[in-house]
Amino acid sequence: MTLNVLSVASEAVPLVKTGGLADVVGALPEALAAHDVAMTTLLPGYPAVIATLGKKPKAVHKWESLLGEPARLLAGKLGQGAAAQALLVLDAPGLYAREGGPYGDATGRDWADNWKRFAAFGRAAADVAGGVVKGLSFDLVHAHDWQAGMTLAYQRFAPAGPQLPSVITIHNMAFQGHYGADLFPALGLPPQAMAIDGIEYHGGISFLKAGLASASRITTVSPTYAREIREPGFGMGLEGLIRARESDVSGIVNGIDPAVWNPASDPALKAPYTAKALGKRAANARALEAEFGLERGDGPVFIVISRLTWQKGMDVLLEAADHLVGIGGRLALLGSGDAALESGFHAAAARHPGRIGVRIGYDEALSHRMLGGGDAILVPSRFEPCGLTQLYGLAYGCVPVVSRTGGLADTVIDANLAARQAGVATGVQFDGVRYQTLADAITRTVHLFRDPAAWRSLQRAGMSADFSWTGSGGAYADLYKSLTVTP
Ligand code: ADP
Repeated sequence: MTLNVLSVASEAVPLVKTGGLADVVGALPEALAAHDVAMTTLLPGYPAVIATLGKKPKAVHKWESLLGEPARLLAGKLGQGAAAQALLVLDAPGLYAREGGPYGDATGRDWADNWKRFAAFGRAAADVAGGVVKGLSFDLVHAHDWQAGMTLAYQRFAPAGPQLPSVITIHNMAFQGHYGADLFPALGLPPQAMAIDGIEYHGGISFLKAGLASASRITTVSPTYAREIREPGFGMGLEGLIRARESDVSGIVNGIDPAVWNPASDPALKAPYTAKALGKRAANARALEAEFGLERGDGPVFIVISRLTWQKGMDVLLEAADHLVGIGGRLALLGSGDAALESGFHAAAARHPGRIGVRIGYDEALSHRMLGGGDAILVPSRFEPCGLTQLYGLAYGCVPVVSRTGGLADTVIDANLAARQAGVATGVQFDGVRYQTLADAITRTVHLFRDPAAWRSLQRAGMSADFSWTGSGGAYADLYKSLTVTP
C-alpha cells in the first residue's frame, strides 16, 4: 500500500536553497517513490517558487485569515518530467512576496516577522495534514528544521481530529527559531501549549523545540550527530530534550543525486572522467588553475566550497593558510558569509599570489568544476550534521580532508595504516578543529599526495562508495512504515 507523506520545509532544490536542507528536501520525494511512498512537498510561496507554477496556478484551498493574513494553497510540481513530484505552495503575499532571501532581506538581515511567516506556514501545514483540502489525505507528516516545527505543535494541540504520526528532521541544531513569550497569544494555540513539554523555552518560545516535543520521532542527518546532540556543545540548549527522547532519535545520512553529481556525465566539466581514467582530471585541473589564477605546482590543490562561518571552521583554515602554502599546497576557495572571513581570505590570496585563489559568492557550476579539478576538499567543520561537500568530493575523486564530527565522521574513512592496507581509506580525518590539528592534517594530505599509488587508492575507494539515496530513502521509508503500519 502506498504511503502518503506530507513533507513540510522552507527550502527545496531546485526552487529555493540556502544550504543542505534544500538538497535533501528536493531529493527525498524521488528517493522515496522507489519505496512506495508518495511524498507531497509543501513550501512557502516565495517569488521564485510562485514563478514556477505558471500563469494560472490552481488554488486548492483558501484561508481568509492565516494568523491575520489572507492565503491560498496552490498546487504544482517539484522537478520535471517523469521524476516530477507533487508540490503545494502556501501563497500568502503579505508574508512571502518580497525580494531577498527566504529568511531575510538582500543585506542578510532577518525579516522581523519571521515568527509570523513560519507560524502561519506551520498552521497551514497542520490544516493540510488534517484534511482541509478535499481529496488530499495523508498518512504521516514529515517536518524539517525550525521553520516547519510549528506544524507539529498545531497538529498536536488541535482541538479535535485524528492525529497523524509525525517525524521531524534536524538539519542543523544551531538554528532554532527563538522568540519572545509576548508573541504567544498571536499564535492561536491553547494555553497548555506554553509549557515545558510544549513550545516554551527558557521563558520564551522555540519553534524547533515545538517540533521536537511534538513529533512522534526525531531524526537527524547522521548517526554521529544524533549522538552528539545529547551533549551541550552540540545540543545548543536542547540536549536535555534530546536525551529525554533518546529512544525516539536516530540518524539517517543524506544521499546525493548521482544524476547531478557524477564526474562521468557532468556537463560543467571540461573533461568528464571515471575512476578508471583519473588521468583525464588533469585537463580540469589546468582549467581550475587558470580560473583561480594558480601557478602550476607539484603539491595538491586544496579546494573549499562553503559558507564562510565559524561552524565551518573557516577562521582556523584562514590561520592555517600560510602553512598550507608553505608545504607546497595551493588553495582555491569558493564561499560567502562573515565579512571578516571574506576579507581575511582576500588578504591571504594577496599574500600568496598564484598559490591561493578566492572567489566570494555562490556559484553552483563553479563548485562542480572545482570538484572535477581539485585534488582535496577541505571541510574543517566544528560541527557538521551531515555535510554534502565531502560526499561530492568522494564521488569526484577529490579527496576529503575533514574534522571527525557528525556526518563527516560517518562518511569518510581515515587513511590510517590499517585502512590503507585494506584499501578502504577514502580521506583524511582529524580530531578537534584547532590550528595544529588542521595543519597536521594538511601535512598528512600533502605527504599522501606525493605517493601517487596511495593517492589513487584513496580516490578510487571514494569513487566506488555509494552515497546515492538508495539506502537512506529506504531508511526513511522503514521509519514511516514503523509509525503507520499497525502490526
Ligand atoms: P550547510 O547546509 O551547513 O551549508 P552542507 O555541506 O550540508 O552545508 O550543504 C551545503 C550545500 O551548499 C552544498 O550543496 C554545497 O555545495 C553548497 N554550497 C555552499 N557554498 C557554496 C558556494 N559558495 N557556491 C556553490 N555552492 C555552495
